[in-house]
Amino acid sequence: MEMADTILVTGGAGYIGSHTVRMLAAQQRKIVVLDNLVYGHREAIVDDSVELVVGSIGDKQLLRELFARHSFSAVIHFAAFAYVGESVTDPLKYYRNNTAEPLALLEVMQEFACKSFVFSSTCATYGVPEQMPITESMRQAPINPYGRSKLMLEWILADCDHAWGLRSVCLRYFNASGCSSDGLIGEDHNPETHLIPRVLMALTGEAGPVEIFGTDYPTPDGTCIRDYIHVVDLADAHAKALDYLSTGGASQRVNLGTGVGVSVKEIIAAIEKVTGQTVPVVLGNRRAGDPAALVADPSLAHQILGWKADHCDITETVRSAWMWMSGSKHGRYSA
Ligand code: UDP
Repeated sequence: MEMADTILVTGGAGYIGSHTVRMLAAQQRKIVVLDNLVYGHREAIVDDSVELVVGSIGDKQLLRELFARHSFSAVIHFAAFAYVGESVTDPLKYYRNNTAEPLALLEVMQEFACKSFVFSSTCATYGVPEQMPITESMRQAPINPYGRSKLMLEWILADCDHAWGLRSVCLRYFNASGCSSDGLIGEDHNPETHLIPRVLMALTGEAGPVEIFGTDYPTPDGTCIRDYIHVVDLADAHAKALDYLSTGGASQRVNLGTGVGVSVKEIIAAIEKVTGQTVPVVLGNRRAGDPAALVADPSLAHQILGWKADHCDITETVRSAWMWMSGSKHGRYSA
């Protein structure tokens, strides 16, 4: 049996997971990553101290072996599918992977009396918010299966707390962006649909012009407003959530955002400033399911976790994404 402070990180080879794993490893924490590598990348695990297990979070036999071997003190659960559009056309894939599969993980946690859980939730659980900025107590009414698949797991966690004392921190991410300051790891989705990498790919020639999804929103420049939170700040929130739980903190759910809204056109302008290039743009129609604005009120995360975003300058966030995208690996782990 190993030391009792080993942490299991599911989906640790993905975008936000790998940045978190790297930060936790730098803090000398012992990490085991469980990732099926469907969307994750083996190369995103850069620390030799981290054990990567390739497998499924729904594989109870594998989970039992891992829990018996490591005596995990906590689980950070990233593993999920996160394409909103795909969730609309293939909802069962999302309910299976994001809602049903974690039940096996939770059952094994209960068997082994592991009662600390950090969950990657999302601002998509709010749907179209009644007010801006968004606070945690606002109505959660997701408008797509992705958001619903995540919200259901939030509910399941609350029920497990009530029934057997599972304490969880649900981290409701806003728009994850940027990459590690040395450009060693970064965002590599296939297909890539997120705004910042998609704009950068239009500059590297990996993709055609960027389509702006809607220019007639009730916002100052007519384009959608989002809260772009740097992935390194997200990683930091996970470390703080672990500390919070290890000192006996009660279950919580907090927004992780900067509190600052940035429009699609402002993102494109920031990228043009950083790269000195003109972004080829096509003005398109609204994308189904896109609320006009999503901006966090992040004050509860500060109050409860002592966390706040350090990287609030969108130019710097975009610069880090560009460093990764234009670096030797061209924003891809194995092109
Ligand atoms: N967006 C866009 N063109 C693109 C990709 C995204 O105009 O090629 C817009 C999208 O409508 C949204 C914002 O950029 O308002 C952020 O979208 P993204 O897919 O990055 O994140 P989401 O907010 O959907 O989680």
